[in-house]
Amino acid sequence: MILLLLCPKCKNKMKYQTTDIYLTGKRKKCVYCGNSFKVKDNKIEKIKP
Ligand SMILES: [Zn+2]
Repeated sequence: MILLLLCPKCKNKMKYQTTDIYLTGKRKKCVYCGNSFKVKDNKIEKIKP
């Protein structure tokens, strides 16, 4: 699935692709500012199932 994430630091949106439905503990490094944040707490929507 592809999720849309919002960086809590710079507020930019980015796509995040994963095959794992369990997002607990997963982190994403922001492509814009380099901030590392939790995927689970900052997802906006699911783009594809
Ligand atoms: Zn950012």
